[in-house]
Amino acid sequence: MIRLDCPFCGTRDHAEFAYGGDGSVTYPPLDAPTGAWHDAVFLRDNPKGRVVETWHHLHGCRMWLRVERDTVTHEVFSVRPAHPGLAEALE
Ligand SMILES: [Zn+2]
Repeated sequence: MIRLDCPFCGTRDHAEFAYGGDGSVTYPPLDAPTGAWHDAVFLRDNPKGRVVETWHHLHGCRMWLRVERDTVTHEVFSVRPAHPGLAEALE
């Protein structure tokens, strides 16, 4: 079981959240070639260990969060708002 510490709602079970994908992906500019978009959207690594992911608190505050966790142990290291301006405001 994964429990996430939402900065707005407190600690919640992962069932309240929707996985949003790899948080380390940098998307190409809108006018980039189709191949660049294909690679950014569909080609993913499947890392073992510490990763950054995005999660949506769908059944809570509905905020997008940036979660750093271990894919093997499910240990959660940090949960921050995905929007950088909001993350800075909370620091
Ligand atoms: Zn929340």
